[in-house]
Amino acid sequence: MPRLRLLVIATSIAMAACSQSSNDNQSTPAPAPAASAPAAGSSTAQADAANPFFTASTLPFQAPPFDKIKEGDYQPAIEEGMRQHLAEIEKIANNPEPPTFDNTFIPMEKSGALLRRTMRAFDTVTGANTSDALQKVQEEEAPKLAAHQDAIYLNDKLFQRVEAIYNQRDRLKLDPESLRLVEVTYRDFVHNGAKLSAADKTKLKELNKEESTLSTQFTNKLLAATKAGALTVDDAARLKGLSEGDLAAAAQAAKGRKLDGKWTLPLQNTTQQPALKDLEDRATREALFKASWDRAEHGGDNDTRATIERIAQIRAEQAKLLGFPTYAAWKLEDQMAKTPERAIDFMQNLVPAATGRAEREAADIQKVIDQQHGGFKLAAWDWEHYAEQVRKARYDLDENQIKPYFELDNVLQNGVFYAANQLYGLTFKERHDIPVWQPDVRVFEVFDKDGTSMALFYCDYFKRDNKGGGAWMDNLVEESTLLGTKPVVFNVANFTKPAPGQPALLSFDDVITMFHEFGHALHGMFADTKYPSLSGANTARDFVEFPSQFNEHWATDPKVFAHYAINYKTHQPMPQALVGKIKQARHFNSGYDMTELVAAALLDMGWHTLSADAPKQDADKFEMDVLTKDKINLSYVPPRYRSSYFQHIWGNGYAAGYYAYLWTQMLADDGFEWFKEHGGLTRANGDRFRQMVLSRGNTEDLAKMYKDWRGKDPSVEPMLIDRGLKDAPKGNEK
Ligand SMILES: [Zn+2]
Repeated sequence: MPRLRLLVIATSIAMAACSQSSNDNQSTPAPAPAASAPAAGSSTAQADAANPFFTASTLPFQAPPFDKIKEGDYQPAIEEGMRQHLAEIEKIANNPEPPTFDNTFIPMEKSGALLRRTMRAFDTVTGANTSDALQKVQEEEAPKLAAHQDAIYLNDKLFQRVEAIYNQRDRLKLDPESLRLVEVTYRDFVHNGAKLSAADKTKLKELNKEESTLSTQFTNKLLAATKAGALTVDDAARLKGLSEGDLAAAAQAAKGRKLDGKWTLPLQNTTQQPALKDLEDRATREALFKASWDRAEHGGDNDTRATIERIAQIRAEQAKLLGFPTYAAWKLEDQMAKTPERAIDFMQNLVPAATGRAEREAADIQKVIDQQHGGFKLAAWDWEHYAEQVRKARYDLDENQIKPYFELDNVLQNGVFYAANQLYGLTFKERHDIPVWQPDVRVFEVFDKDGTSMALFYCDYFKRDNKGGGAWMDNLVEESTLLGTKPVVFNVANFTKPAPGQPALLSFDDVITMFHEFGHALHGMFADTKYPSLSGANTARDFVEFPSQFNEHWATDPKVFAHYAINYKTHQPMPQALVGKIKQARHFNSGYDMTELVAAALLDMGWHTLSADAPKQDADKFEMDVLTKDKINLSYVPPRYRSSYFQHIWGNGYAAGYYAYLWTQMLADDGFEWFKEHGGLTRANGDRFRQMVLSRGNTEDLAKMYKDWRGKDPSVEPMLIDRGLKDAPKGNEK
């Protein structure tokens, strides 16, 4: 989870929040387990000369010595790391000298070096190259790490020092970054309950415990409900339209449920189901859709409604205890949007354009239905099926025609690296002497515009069975002038690995993913801050996807595109007709996509802006009320997740945070507009962006940072145009 700044041990937010909103395999972090074990107070683990974590790495950039690290080294290093960290924290808290910035904040930032370097490597391998042994260590250490965090945030003596400095911060003549560190750290303590009376701390812990229990219950109920909700048919004719492979998979799924001779379509987590695209029988489509929609609302053990109604109440009570009117107000205070009102206002402004476009798409679909003499009105369960027909007729885009133009190494070097060279003057040199966690991983040394060596960049692009889904970025070493460290960052993805000797050919979505993740990497590599906890991608959730989504734009910049979209066999550039098709197809179905996302995000906000005094809500009625009030209740565009199966917000820590995917799209598109206004792909533009945004991490208020660079607050207009929801003004087409 993000934002354990003091500890700087957890998976960075860039990883936690990386997948794009259109992708459902978001690697959302597991809920933090309840703290049960005491922190390792007096571990017997001794500094073992054979354990490579016990001394700082001597490799370039302090890169982890993966050639020497064995699986058995992690656990003793984590345990000893926590013990050392806690001893350092105790020493700071019990310092007899009066609290000063230098005797409190500086040592806090420096503390936990062993834990930090161990956890960075550990998170990397457990995410990208895990094993049974590593998973076991993860399970054993997770509750201990949670307790370790509590031991710091709820350390009264430490908080008294932090608060004393916070209260006199304006008189201390601190430089802006140090002042920001004081404010951010203080707020983190307060947000975690440090200021409460002993009685209220107990109350908060009780609420936290109940929430955590119910959240786990929700997850388990939903898992069971989703499994039980699968649609089973006993006549294959009802599944007409499915490919032979899908049909065989359905027969297999039935067998797995001891329903031999039948066919089962298991449910995916979203409202819409992949099979709806192909299913020709309308009654089957309706049955499958309804199975999805009602999955957790059948009464009985797997019904989640009572659980979420109670979670919403608990969260409102937590917020009230901490002095906030609603849960969303509490959670957004340290985000760029700052208040739920701003986030809601932003989304409500998207509604007319999104639903307007969805209505036009619906009209196109109705035409197809009528041409085929369907004799019915479009319903939610028809959308995917007929939209696919519209897509084929309109764009006629064949993936296999495109892929030869996107050979991986070429896209990386002549696309991703090329754009970074044109904008920021960076150059890259592959190194074969830096140890990696798996032989497919490549390492590049990154040189700054003046030729100085500035960072290491690892890429681990190919799918493996022991790698988590989706794509992400993280740091192995964080930049900090206080610690004297330069950035070591990496990108992970799940591209198909070619057979030996064959080229790795990417889809255009894969190309976009590469640019996206590299945008995060730039945020990490350009970091130029003193304190590690404010460095690079350690920013709010509704900001961290800005550099990455912004960097996606360069994939379609004509100069960049022409530089990398070269056929690997013929060495010819992509024909213009094909380029045009790719561009057009990117806006297909955007009204539907945006509407279902905004509807889900507004549901999230609806639940989390209830006050503690509000009565317990009826889930179905509440949901309908929110969608109606926000004018986003198109019958044929249901929310991407219904409240009763919205795992992100009830189980995975995205409560009051689902809007962030949309918010950062706005920043990315509005920010790219600034580039267009100033001549696009130039070094001057890149240097300015780097200096004012990419290098700054979380060292100042993020809304101010954006505004200072952009010259104004972000506008939603470019997003509407870029996402095909609104026509570009004449003379401004992309
Ligand atoms: Zn991302």
